Amino acid sequence: MSRPIQARFNSLALAHNYQLIRQSAPTSRVFAVIKANAYGHGVQRVVEALPDADGFAILEINAAMDLRRFGVQQPILLLEGVFSAAELTACAEFDLAIALHLPLHIEWLEQAQLSRPIAVFLKLNTGMNRLGFPAESAPAWAERLARCPNVASVTVMTHFACADEPSKGIERQWLRFIAATQSLALPTSSANSAAIFAYPQTHGTWVRPGLALYGSSPFSDQSAASLGLQTVMSLCSEVIATQTVAAGESVGYGATFIAPAPMKIGIVACGYADGYPRHAPTGTPVWVAGQKTRLLGRVSMDMLCIDLTPWPELDVGSSVELWGEHLPIDEVASAAGTLSYELMCAIAARVPVQTQR
Ligand SMILES: *Cc1c(COP(=O)(O)O)cnc(C)c1O
Repeated sequence: MSRPIQARFNSLALAHNYQLIRQSAPTSRVFAVIKANAYGHGVQRVVEALPDADGFAILEINAAMDLRRFGVQQPILLLEGVFSAAELTACAEFDLAIALHLPLHIEWLEQAQLSRPIAVFLKLNTGMNRLGFPAESAPAWAERLARCPNVASVTVMTHFACADEPSKGIERQWLRFIAATQSLALPTSSANSAAIFAYPQTHGTWVRPGLALYGSSPFSDQSAASLGLQTVMSLCSEVIATQTVAAGESVGYGATFIAPAPMKIGIVACGYADGYPRHAPTGTPVWVAGQKTRLLGRVSMDMLCIDLTPWPELDVGSSVELWGEHLPIDEVASAAGTLSYELMCAIAARVPVQTQR
């Protein structure tokens, strides 16, 4: 028996979420966003679970090349494009589509000697103010790309800052995108998970879901279950020790939790070196053997402490879920003052993953 921590990956849930998204954007093709090691789920694992995906969107060119070597035939989009002119050679060789967001990228393309032309996504800044050409310049760049023999096709693309926040919305960004691109009659791509559910008008040619694929809700006021999404990854472990403490005794580093009364404490084999957020406070929910309990005191590198006081029968070996099927990751993220995106991406390499089909 090894250390009991384990991440359980449910490939059927992932396939279900992909289908749900496809039904939510019925006239679009769906890029499964698999950057950051597929939000911590494992690129290979996710791609194998989605054999019929329309395409994959990723940041890391080496991972994209591995997908082709592994036999993936679908379109693959590099969401941040290339970081050097030399990478264009690999894009042509491995048939990788790229985002273009700087004039320099277009110069590199114009000057490159490529084995075949590449599909490009002209990234437009409509108000996120992170990457992209000013939206209004789209017609000029599109015209220039149309003359470039290294370009196989042009799709116009933008990204929303607040699609997950109904009070802010996407209105200004969307109007700016439409105004700049309508006359071009080019394929479009703008919707992330939140926009797919909240703004059907943005679906366009390609939607780009990440978070929702992995079974998390992009909205703070709607649960993943209420959207029909299923949990893909569960982070599980076990109680490896228990302590009985008297009133006034403390628990863990820094003695930040002091027992107000006699308590039974469970020590769980999961810490921040496994990817559990160190800043999660006392009270963060933890599931143990069918009950919902709470984290106590500071999270250590390899362990955390939970309250077992109401369940004297629970002992070493009791199963624990840090988040997953019984305890939505969104609830844990919210208690820890972060987002499920961060929790997913943080799962450490030392946590073994078990795939359930
Ligand atoms: C990460 C990313 C997405 C996916 O966003 P979610 O909110 O996870 O659905 C879509 N588009 C771009 C450009 C991204 O970088």
